[in-house]
Amino acid sequence: RFDTPVVIRTTMRVSHSKGVVTLGERPPVPKEVGPFPRTQKKYVMTAMWARERHPIVEERLKTLAAYAEECPLNRVEYRDRKLGIITSGITYAYVREVFPQASVLKLGMTYPLPHNLILEFSRSVEELVVVEELDPFLEEQIRALGVKVRGKDIFPPCGELLPERIAELAAEVGLLPAEGVPRPANQAPEGLPARIPVLCPGCPHRSTYFVLAKLGVPVAGDIGCYNLGCLPPFNAQHTMGCMGASVGVLHGMAIAGLPERAVATIGDSTFFHSGMAPLANMVHNGSRGVVIIMDNGTTAMTGHQDHPGTQWTLHGQPANVIDIEAVVRAMGVEKVRVVNAFDVREVEDGLKDCLAYEGVSVLITRGLCVQVSKAHGGTYWVDENACIACGTCFRLGCPAVVKSEARNPKTGANKAAIDPTLCVGCDVCRQVCPVGAIHAPEGKEER
Ligand code: SF4
Ligand code: SF4
Repeated sequence: RFDTPVVIRTTMRVSHSKGVVTLGERPPVPKEVGPFPRTQKKYVMTAMWARERHPIVEERLKTLAAYAEECPLNRVEYRDRKLGIITSGITYAYVREVFPQASVLKLGMTYPLPHNLILEFSRSVEELVVVEELDPFLEEQIRALGVKVRGKDIFPPCGELLPERIAELAAEVGLLPAEGVPRPANQAPEGLPARIPVLCPGCPHRSTYFVLAKLGVPVAGDIGCYNLGCLPPFNAQHTMGCMGASVGVLHGMAIAGLPERAVATIGDSTFFHSGMAPLANMVHNGSRGVVIIMDNGTTAMTGHQDHPGTQWTLHGQPANVIDIEAVVRAMGVEKVRVVNAFDVREVEDGLKDCLAYEGVSVLITRGLCVQVSKAHGGTYWVDENACIACGTCFRLGCPAVVKSEARNPKTGANKAAIDPTLCVGCDVCRQVCPVGAIHAPEGKEER
């Protein structure tokens, strides 16, 4: 109808929620696709045609603004007219919970705004408030209409506006009686120790971050489960901006003349998504640094989607597999090492070898995500008599490695134990124990 792209913006709380939804009618998608329209003036945004296109876009915005006035996504719910609230998205649900009596203008379409609807609503209520998360996007536009409205002076721009917080802040300025502030339904008891997120037992990234922490090199990180390498016990990732940024930042470190040898860590999926272009840039410009491609054969963090390096398409059809090693060699990387991610020594030797190289090198640490492979190599155990409580295995950050009640009589430090309900037998802890106190289950050969 409007010949326009539509963006549906979901907020964090919606993206992190799940529930039962009732689907509406789904109109069939036309199977027949006609020839591609040769409307270059619309689809080729070169300068001369972009100038011609601009007035059309402006006109379209006016048409959309008129539509916003009648669009059923924007609706007024009149109740008590002492307080009127303008809101949109998930905050509408919070507002209904916290102010069940207030009149509400719910904006389902937030650009362009329905000016007349807003003006009419503002005139129909005694006090007008905007409740929106983060920046005052709605509030500033409403103010620009000459409407007296409150918003960010009550609900600050930082942090999430959950119902309890909205209620608390509203009570502070008298929009709610103090005694009406609801308490969170599921409040954790006070004094519980914090549980930081950790890599799963059997995660193939564990050995790499253990080695990176041991060598103490600067690490430009990327987005994926391996971002957990920035947290204790590793503390071995020092930057993370956006997908693919690790390789570009590594290049920047080299250009800036960083005296240390530096490393970028990037997952296989992220490498395909946005790591190849900066790697080409590094090679082309004769840069220096080690790019570790942590190939766990999936896109783990977002739910194990396939990617160009896996055997299946997202629709479960057989796919053409793109070989990461072949790609980086074809891009001109001369120093390429491929190691078993579950072999700590291989990872360490490979990394040291790459760090010693003068130019751009790539270390591919290969090991399937344990949530995909479901591999279980048996339950490992610690010989308490042999354990000297050196703490090395704790530095792996495996949730299955726990402190035993037993202590080293000289140092008083806790010895290690393995939680059999969590261990999946990846063997990594056994490899790092300096005194051989960790053992594979009976019958499994120890390398
Ligand atoms: S073998 Fe060791 S590192 Fe691997 S899951 Fe078990 S306890 Fe954790
Ligand atoms: S690495 Fe070995 S000796 Fe050190 S705490 Fe762990 S089990 Fe004990």
